[in-house]
Amino acid sequence: MRVRRNSTQMNARNSTVSSWRIPLSDINYGPEEEAAVLRVLRSKWLSMGSEVQAFEKEFAEMVGCKHAFAITNATAGLHLALKVLGVGPGDEVIQPAMNFVAAANMTVAVGATPVFADIVALDEPTIDPAAIERCITPRTKAVIVMHYGGYLCRMGDISAICRGRGIAIIEDACHAVGARYTDDAGRSPSGRMAGDLGDVSAFSFFANKNLVTGEGGMIATNRDDLAKTIKLLRSHGMTTLTWDRHEGHANSYDVVMNGLNYRLDELHAALGRVQLQKLDRNNSRRLKLTREYWNNLKDLRGWVLPFSAARQQGAGHLMCLVAPDASTKTSVVDGLRSVGVQTSMHYPTITSFEVFKSQARMVPLSDAFSNRSFTLPMFPTLQVDDVKFIAECIGKATH
Ligand SMILES: *Cc1c(COP(=O)(O)O)cnc(C)c1O
Repeated sequence: MRVRRNSTQMNARNSTVSSWRIPLSDINYGPEEEAAVLRVLRSKWLSMGSEVQAFEKEFAEMVGCKHAFAITNATAGLHLALKVLGVGPGDEVIQPAMNFVAAANMTVAVGATPVFADIVALDEPTIDPAAIERCITPRTKAVIVMHYGGYLCRMGDISAICRGRGIAIIEDACHAVGARYTDDAGRSPSGRMAGDLGDVSAFSFFANKNLVTGEGGMIATNRDDLAKTIKLLRSHGMTTLTWDRHEGHANSYDVVMNGLNYRLDELHAALGRVQLQKLDRNNSRRLKLTREYWNNLKDLRGWVLPFSAARQQGAGHLMCLVAPDASTKTSVVDGLRSVGVQTSMHYPTITSFEVFKSQARMVPLSDAFSNRSFTLPMFPTLQVDDVKFIAECIGKATH
């Protein structure tokens, strides 16, 4: 009934897959992405070539970070991050209980133990520095932070806690591609970006993220020692790549570590480069829509709008809200579904999953957030009228 998109926009999800009137997320692809993929197909060089190299360089520049390596996905990036930091059996890795499960799974994959910390508050569902401090033991080797929804963790406090104790910081920056860091007073003196604030960071380019290639990701670091090992581990521990040999830089190779294969291919890298060009514009649009949501929802009594009072800008990855209680959430989500508005929830508390029950700790805020929060449609081609419509529906379902 409302025309929401211009017809030049390729829109696979909406035209073929989704029957939602307003889906949760949507991809902002156009003729540029099609041209980029065609360029690679016609070149007949499909993996780890000039597109990957250019994507890595351009991405590192955007983050302001010395090294960036294109990888198959962010889960691989978290695995690599833990491995290059030497995290293994007997080590503990403090991380948020409110996160996607990848970081916790990768912690177990390297033989270490995840220690789940609570969030700051319902309106700031990122890991609480004070909770990190309480979780530290002599076995603590690393802290994983996750910039929930694209809004940065309290990195000033977290760095101060970790630095003196020799604890490494891994950023799960999957939500925060292109988010600018502001200190706890709201200043952005250094102009630093998410992914440039710890020892090593992982980004995801999965289909519902801010920069989309389908599958795909990036691992970034300023540390030369880590970069060298990441490069080896990403490709079988081999000292040269097929590309180097193709280019005539090398004839042979040695294997100096038991590596993995987490390489990205040229098609995904080419898509990533186009999406990187659009990132700033797309993120600004997301933030504009987010403010529109906040404006339209701010008078709901008993509801919490995470990050709406925050000083920082963020990347506007998720539009999240917290209902007064779980039953109100259920009735509002049902109401939205009945008019074709898709919602989701990010996330069930990790300690609620079967495989992590034995690591359960008291994380009351994460549990409350998990029970009462849900996420609304958020993507760059969403329209302001859609936001108003959704806010109206929420208002009606609440009364
Ligand atoms: C998407 C996501 C991941 C996993 O990314 P993949 O690229 O799918 O492996 C990990 N952590 C967070 C917070 C995410 O949102």
